[in-house]
Amino acid sequence: MHQLSMKTGMTVTSPIVSEEISASESPVPIGPGGIFSIFNRSLHPTANFPCDESVHFFIRKNYPKTSVRDWNSWNWQIKNSIHTAERLKEIFGESYENVISSLPENHLPFRITPYFASLLSRFAPDHPLFRTMIPAKEELTIGNGEKNDPLDEANDTPVPHIVHRYPDRVLFTVTGFCAAYCRYCTRSHMVAKKNKSHVSTKSWDRAIEYIAANEQIRDVLISGGDPLTLSDARLEYLLSRLRAIPHVEIIRIGTKIPVVLPMRITKSLIKIIKKYHPVMMSLHFSHPDELSIETKEACNRLADGGIPLGSQCVLLKGVNDQVETFMRLNHELLKVRVRPYYIYQCDPIPGSAHFRTEVKKGIEIIKGLHGFTSGYAVPHFVIDAPGGGGKIPLLPESIKSVDKDGITLVNYLGKEYIYPEKG
Ligand code: SF4
Repeated sequence: MHQLSMKTGMTVTSPIVSEEISASESPVPIGPGGIFSIFNRSLHPTANFPCDESVHFFIRKNYPKTSVRDWNSWNWQIKNSIHTAERLKEIFGESYENVISSLPENHLPFRITPYFASLLSRFAPDHPLFRTMIPAKEELTIGNGEKNDPLDEANDTPVPHIVHRYPDRVLFTVTGFCAAYCRYCTRSHMVAKKNKSHVSTKSWDRAIEYIAANEQIRDVLISGGDPLTLSDARLEYLLSRLRAIPHVEIIRIGTKIPVVLPMRITKSLIKIIKKYHPVMMSLHFSHPDELSIETKEACNRLADGGIPLGSQCVLLKGVNDQVETFMRLNHELLKVRVRPYYIYQCDPIPGSAHFRTEVKKGIEIIKGLHGFTSGYAVPHFVIDAPGGGGKIPLLPESIKSVDKDGITLVNYLGKEYIYPEKG
């Protein structure tokens, strides 16, 4: 198990429970001064993460002995993660017929944080976010062309933990551990595996030496697993080693933590990252309803720490494959200073057919965004080419023809315009 021993910096000591409330009561607040007012943030002025009343109800019902301090501790969240169908049913009832109660050995395990369960509890059982994290029977059926390592990253791995595919940058997989396991994870072949989950700092040495020895590497993407599940001390060690390499210009961190464990975004974490700027982050989102007040707070803290934020989303059938969903997601992201950056076509990992849309769906979504909203809200749609070809952008057709009069272009409303070419 990952050793998580850092302090959270929380100062709240009072437990949230100061009055008995039946677990079957509605979580809907009854107004100012009503029963839920005892849980309001105002009575916990030092609590440094916001929660709304429905979360307090969730805690009371499912973690009755838990204090605000514990709930806000990311270590507590990880230690109390939900990883069995039984616990899932205790929390959400028997409505999850499609859930696999026991997963085959070596399969991507099930794990969600209590926080993410509390987020799910705010929605109806058929909300698409359930599908992103809860194992379904379909993932046991292997479809055509599906592979464990569809991007053939093993072939571009010169030393352990490094994928060196593009000339000037590398992917550094520093852990195989995540706070929650997305059912469509490209690296499901390595995340959560016993020998890869808890990587020692020593085992990073060869990777760091490789980066130091290759002067063309100016950009290091720290990923995994989720790098923000590392303790502050280990993360600082890693950042300091990379920042000491003169030719490393930028460091990027790929993470889903603000969505599944926002309480990890502590003041001490931001303080550490700020020492090693420029550090950027790619935040993994799937749906606009992930932007709870807690996640918004996490994004704002990161942005206030001077960290440029971009989003990456996987296009998922029945989850986010609508223009309206991406429009709403991208607008919400921009409001918390996250620039929508990538939409990925879902990679063909084993058992992913129920998540994969037709490629034309992604192009339709870009077409439905481009021109209809500001350019900042229009990400790139890419396919990470199976077999290791790298990311290939896919664009709606905008050039109709080229002739002596110029280039005939088609705008977002389908109207044609000629740009006269020189000479
Ligand atoms: S957080 Fe990232 S690495 Fe972890 S399971 Fe989700 S997609 Fe995979």
